Amino acid sequence: MEAKIVVLGGDGIGPEITNVAVSLLRAVAHKFGHTFHFDEQLIGGIAIDKTGSALPDATLAACKDASAVLLGAVGGPKWDDPAAKVRPEQGLLAIRKGLGLYANLRPVRGSSKLLGASPLKREVVEGVDLLVVRELTGGLYFGKREEATGSGPDASAYDTMIYTGQEIRRVLELGVKLAAGRRKKVTSVDKANVLASSRLWRKIATEIIAENPGIEFEHQLVDSCAMRLVTNPKSFDVIVTENMFGDILSDEAAVLTGSLGMLPSASLGTGTMGLYEPIHGSAPDIAGQGIANPLGTVLSAAMLLRHSLNLEAEAAAIEAAADKVLEEGHLTRDLGGTATTQEMEVALLRAL
Ligand code: NAD
Repeated sequence: MEAKIVVLGGDGIGPEITNVAVSLLRAVAHKFGHTFHFDEQLIGGIAIDKTGSALPDATLAACKDASAVLLGAVGGPKWDDPAAKVRPEQGLLAIRKGLGLYANLRPVRGSSKLLGASPLKREVVEGVDLLVVRELTGGLYFGKREEATGSGPDASAYDTMIYTGQEIRRVLELGVKLAAGRRKKVTSVDKANVLASSRLWRKIATEIIAENPGIEFEHQLVDSCAMRLVTNPKSFDVIVTENMFGDILSDEAAVLTGSLGMLPSASLGTGTMGLYEPIHGSAPDIAGQGIANPLGTVLSAAMLLRHSLNLEAEAAAIEAAADKVLEEGHLTRDLGGTATTQEMEVALLRAL
């Protein structure tokens, strides 16, 4: 197959780690007989420096014309002024909106080699394999809000959690579709005992249960879900939830496996276009030193192959290479080893 992939290295360690992922994608293309065209574009702080915008029009246009987008990370101390009008993270929000991406997927899978790095007991995390699907475009982060004018006893401020049936249904249906390719279990997370928007969520989830008899389905309140994530994470397959609950739960789930540098993510919309990026930031403290862990980005590239290009065997080949490299003991500093980014790249290519 032929595909165009836009590469947005971004800031800090971003370009170092996307380079490794691109080199793995090139190797996969060669091994399986595909042609991938890579188009490097600007986003984040570097885009602000060069064009004045965190997401230049040319970048968005190139992304719209591509099959998928691979992103490193954006931001850094240079652009950290909270009073600045243009900030690197604006590029992230703008690209998700511009591409109509409404669901964020974060798989969490522990490697047996890294169980020691988890803050939880080995028997709790061993065998964890779950996927958090977070709604990205609705809820508290986008509802009507009013800032307080002061901070005295009479000051007040509010945010609104608002959802439409269509927004809820499409993300739950995506969760069901993803579960069908996994262990066929969906946990729908809400706060239906208190919130009206959650009661609408639960009503629609209940309709979807009736439409999908092949899927094991459960409702769970967000507070008890947070607890179950650290007491019995193995009991989850696919968790689907609204924007803010998903923001919090996906970070909680991320620590199960021990290192931020390991975890991939995908943001998807209605078509096959997707944006793939590691969950960590631009790590300015280690940028330019050649020691960043590229695995989160490499595993994001595997998700790109699976979800945007429908290349399952190719995705699995990259994931197997990542597992093998860890099994062989190639570990970057964040995982307690001494391997450099380049040594990881060489080991990954050899494993592939
Ligand atoms: P961070 O994720 O960049 O770094 C946190 C810690 O984890 C650092 O010590 C860093 O060295 C380490 N780390 C992260 N990724 C690593 C990797 N691949 N290999 C080895 N070590 C790794 O979070 P932060 O320090 O809070 O934020 C730094 C900058 O990144 C900020 O400007 C922030 O706004 C931005 N940020 C961007 C994104 C994104 O682009 N999606 C996400 C989070 C933070």
